[in-house]
Amino acid sequence: MVLIVSMMHVHGKKVLPHALGGWGGGVWSILFFSQYRKNVYFCKMIFQNYEHPIIVAGPCSVESREQLRAVSLSLRNIRHLKLIRGGVWKPRTRPGGFEGLGEPALAWMEELQRELGIGYCCEVARPEQVELCLQHGIGTVWIGARTTANPFMVSELCAALRGSGVAVMVKNPVCPDVSLWLGALERLHEAGIDDVAAVHRGFSMYHNQGYRNAPLWELVMELRREAPGLPVLCDPSHIGGRRELVRPLCDTAQQMAFDGLMVEVHPHPDEAWTDAAQQITPADFAAIVESWPGATTAATTPQSEMLTPLRNQIDSVDREMMALLSQRMGLARQIAAVKRTEGIPVYQPQRWAAVLDKRLQQAEALGLDPSFTKDLLEKIHAESVRVQLNSSAD
Ligand code: PEP
Ligand code: MN
Repeated sequence: MVLIVSMMHVHGKKVLPHALGGWGGGVWSILFFSQYRKNVYFCKMIFQNYEHPIIVAGPCSVESREQLRAVSLSLRNIRHLKLIRGGVWKPRTRPGGFEGLGEPALAWMEELQRELGIGYCCEVARPEQVELCLQHGIGTVWIGARTTANPFMVSELCAALRGSGVAVMVKNPVCPDVSLWLGALERLHEAGIDDVAAVHRGFSMYHNQGYRNAPLWELVMELRREAPGLPVLCDPSHIGGRRELVRPLCDTAQQMAFDGLMVEVHPHPDEAWTDAAQQITPADFAAIVESWPGATTAATTPQSEMLTPLRNQIDSVDREMMALLSQRMGLARQIAAVKRTEGIPVYQPQRWAAVLDKRLQQAEALGLDPSFTKDLLEKIHAESVRVQLNSSAD
């Protein structure tokens, strides 16, 4: 049996580890060995005390022993490679496609782990799959986007993972909801699993902005604000859906200070059984990793003195914006009072169309992006309508 004795006390309360001093620190675990523990991959903390960047790569799906071996041999010497991924059970949006090879694929991973000394990881969606991973010495798993969206399934997985010593990556849910993402991480924490990382694979939207899954970087920033210290990897393969987007998305991930990457790499991408359009060759992947800066930790991220005065100016502009917004909402309340006395409805479509038109022209003259300006004005107007409706109800 595996026993993890954690010195992290939660007093029966649901708390994120950062409230206790950061995801990356303060977790003291005493690990006892299990009958499952067939190799070293359980003994290492994978994502705790990590070095940047954390690189995870491998095929979308394990297709054969030869394919897994070939890709593993090409990946094993890539800089910073931490884990090789491979889908063993494939969640398909529509039925009828290849659904993964199941247990035989785990046996190949187990064999290669021993031969090459590299850890492997795969997606789990069912407790029985966790059990099979444990039996085959797979020390890291990930929870896929469709599963993260379902707290019932996440709870079942947590129960199966409790006490196993397995490291877990949590992909964002398919829908743009940071709470579900955090919720899955919190459930893992409650189950005593703190060797975790988040993986950003984009969100399924009606308009995907030219991507397979819209990146919505602002949601990742929100996750990181809520869970400082949590390692976050970028999965450019599922965001882009096309191999030519992988490199630019990796560059963006670097600029967005991600802690690493999970990338789909296949020895012959065009022949891949799943996600052929987005997989890249080991050589292309090696070139991408080469361009990442050397190993650093969050504590050594470079800072520049020159930023301080500019940031002070930003702070003061933001303060002015807040004061102006507050002033604008005050005017909305006065307008509400007049409309109420005169019997005029709150929402005035023509006035709103005219305001939007005018502001967009002004924004263009000021060099502001029209779609950003429109989004911002729509938010401000919606708030103004809400304020007016509320003050009419007073
Ligand atoms: C995958 O990584 O192959 C996969 C199916 O991912 P996601 O859950 O992000 O769709
Ligand atoms: Mn895939």
